[in-house]
Amino acid sequence: MFRLDGRIVLVTGGSRGIGRACCEAFGEQGATVVVNYVKNGETARAVADAIVAKGGKADVEGFDVADSSAVNAGVDALVKRHGKIDVLIANAGIVKDSLLWRLKDAEFEDLWATNVRGAIACARAASKSMMRGRWGRMVFVSSVVGEMGNAGQTAYAATKAALIGAARSIAREYASRNVTSNVVAPGFIDTDMTVAFTAEQREEMLQGVPLARTGSAAEVAAACLYLASDEAAYVTGHVLRVNGGMHM
Ligand code: NAD
Repeated sequence: MFRLDGRIVLVTGGSRGIGRACCEAFGEQGATVVVNYVKNGETARAVADAIVAKGGKADVEGFDVADSSAVNAGVDALVKRHGKIDVLIANAGIVKDSLLWRLKDAEFEDLWATNVRGAIACARAASKSMMRGRWGRMVFVSSVVGEMGNAGQTAYAATKAALIGAARSIAREYASRNVTSNVVAPGFIDTDMTVAFTAEQREEMLQGVPLARTGSAAEVAAACLYLASDEAAYVTGHVLRVNGGMHM
């Protein structure tokens, strides 16, 4: 189940955290994984090398998702190298917390450029190859706060909610081409993004999680893997929550 042999998978922001876990999971299932990075080419290369060392197939492609021309050039280059792209895991994201009254336009614009415009630019660039191949899977990594909101995260939550509308629009637009488009909405996951929380903040957050623990990047990657698989062919426009029951 969930084998991806012969599939070419692009994971944006693949050098660490949830992106890295996705790269590893897809590599283990036989896909050729293209690890995208924006700054740290060495770490991305190390992720790719680790996949290859385990007998998998992997490659790297650096571009900033917030720069649409760079996205187009990067996706074109990888399609040239591998012949196609079958799966996009639009994972790259940033977080900037601020109380509403303190929120600066520049912060909101940065969040929008990476989290929303970046994901849509990647989907647009990848869609051409998926349409040609009459097979495709897009998975957008949103967040629990995109559905339930969170004090101090107005702008971030807005970007994550926007991904749900985008994913469902793509799901309707591309269904006739056998391209599905879904969302994974993680809850409180242990990664570099959440490492800065104080013990007090963690404790408070976990009070709202029925399963009473944080999630792992691998648990989010498993949800992405399912949505990218042949087995999920009849699932589109869905929001798959991986949040320990924090929002249901
Ligand atoms: P992370 O900070 O460890 O990883 C984010 C990755 O995105 C990094 O590799 C980073 O380099 C990359 N990235 C950022 N801006 C980029 C850009 N402009 N172009 C290309 N790559 C870029 O965080 P993570 O926790 O692994 O988060 C991954 C995704 O999951 C994000 O979209 C985040 O919003 C979402 N998420 C995380 C949590 C959590 O608890 N960790 C919860 C809900 C949603």
